[in-house]
Amino acid sequence: MRRFLTLTVFGFSLLTSSLALAAPLPVVTSFSILGDLTQQIGGDKVAVTNLVDVDGDAHVFEPTPNDAKKVTHAALVIMNGLGFEGWMERLTKAANYKGKVVVASDGLKNPLEVEEEGEEHGHEEEHGHHHHGAQDPHAWQDITNTRLYVKNIAAALSKEDPSNAAYYQANATKLDADLAALDTWVKAQIESVPASKRAVITSHDAFGYFARAYGVKFLAPVGLNTEDEPSAKEMRLLIEQLKKGDVKALFLENMANPAVVAQMGKEAKVVMGGKLYADALSAKDGVAGTYQQMFRHNVTELVRGMGVK
Ligand SMILES: [Zn+2]
Repeated sequence: MRRFLTLTVFGFSLLTSSLALAAPLPVVTSFSILGDLTQQIGGDKVAVTNLVDVDGDAHVFEPTPNDAKKVTHAALVIMNGLGFEGWMERLTKAANYKGKVVVASDGLKNPLEVEEEGEEHGHEEEHGHHHHGAQDPHAWQDITNTRLYVKNIAAALSKEDPSNAAYYQANATKLDADLAALDTWVKAQIESVPASKRAVITSHDAFGYFARAYGVKFLAPVGLNTEDEPSAKEMRLLIEQLKKGDVKALFLENMANPAVVAQMGKEAKVVMGGKLYADALSAKDGVAGTYQQMFRHNVTELVRGMGVK
């Protein structure tokens, strides 16, 4: 009888511990692009809760008490860094979060430095009014940087949940190969457009890393932060460039107010290009449901807008 009881107790504790192990790791990500990357690496071993929703704008995000609740129960919080999530520190404090905060851009070799507000170096830089320190946060618009994000996220998941480390690493390796192939495709697509035609206008300065990596010139009426208001002078300069034909295409962004760019298009009598996904993905069943889909969509729209396809 005694032996039977012992076995029962032992069996029960085995069962509970194996159940605990099987529960997916609760991970909170700051915005949809990190949510998707984390999901692709973590698969069914993670339960991803994302804060700034698809088509949402992280620049103007205001966390609610409900967001704090999500963070409280996380085993890991993953954010972009580079000043993108100005609200994160307050949020983790409000949530009394004691776990690890992973910065996906950690170790970025060549962050884009931006001019401080007030400095002027010709007309392009006048568009930047920066509230978020000296670095451009939109590093995911260069696929090489995103491969670093993948490495960092996989390492963080593996450290937090070592029993599934091999699984995370295998998914990350597969994703990395996918991204390397995507990068090659993007370069070939952009190179199919004559260099003189590679200039477009978007809502805000979200594509600095894309511009540097792939050789397209992006102009925007608003700086790095969507909170900024476009000045009449900046608008006028962009409209002039459109009228002269220096810039061929105008694009809306998925998370930004389309009014400003639409008005420029109207004044310059330029046909609007499609929608670019800048700081957020679309819904899962939309055209930019994953990071890779977002990039393919954006590049296809850009190439078409610049007048080749
Ligand atoms: Zn942005």
